[in-house]
Amino acid sequence: MTPNNEMLVEAAHHEDFRQLLNGTDLNIPDSTGLVWMARFTRQCLPERVTGVDTVTALCASLMEETPVFLLGANPGIAEAAAAALLRKNPHMKVVGCFAGSPQEEDAPAIVNMIRAAAPHLLLVAFGAPAQDLWIAKHLKELPSVRVAIGVGGTFDFLAGKVKRAPEFMRSIGLEWLWRLIREPRRIGRIWRAVVVFPLLVLIHGKHAPKR
Ligand code: UDP
Repeated sequence: MTPNNEMLVEAAHHEDFRQLLNGTDLNIPDSTGLVWMARFTRQCLPERVTGVDTVTALCASLMEETPVFLLGANPGIAEAAAAALLRKNPHMKVVGCFAGSPQEEDAPAIVNMIRAAAPHLLLVAFGAPAQDLWIAKHLKELPSVRVAIGVGGTFDFLAGKVKRAPEFMRSIGLEWLWRLIREPRRIGRIWRAVVVFPLLVLIHGKHAPKR
């Protein structure tokens, strides 16, 4: 999973999501807030690694025969993201792109489509927590998949539909402000990320296990 502040707030309130987050093989800190929280609670989290940077680096290092499937985002976005990745990594093998939806009634058709494509790497962009719950529920029906990642807005960034914050804003942890200005409908999420999350860290952080 690629957790950020909002996802940790979600995990604080929902036992199922907390268990999911605690049970993954790897969690990559996708927000500067998590790095600050780690510092505050004296845990070891050296730096932020975004979903889009993870996917970009992973695809650059894939072996030629590794089949990849991109699921999620609005129609046409996964295809545009795949095209952007293929331009940089012509050796990549994209075996499928599908916008789909995280609704349970759509899952059987999506599972069949992915099974037929037989990817080893599955990238799912339904937004958190839907993407992570979808993976947890359906991974066992997808025997070819060795690695599945919930990648949030990664396809939108790769497709150029959403512009990333300028480097200086990212470096000082203000990417949330950039996204708030460009997408005001995110206000609820941003409130949880920049107000609720730090409060939870202040209240509960001192009890965090040191690592
Ligand atoms: N999304 C989707 N189906 C849904 C809800 C979201 O495909 O029912 C996609 C949305 O189009 C976007 C991605 O999920 O591409 C997640 O976007 P968001 O901005 O929430 O992700 P973040 O990077 O902030 O976690």
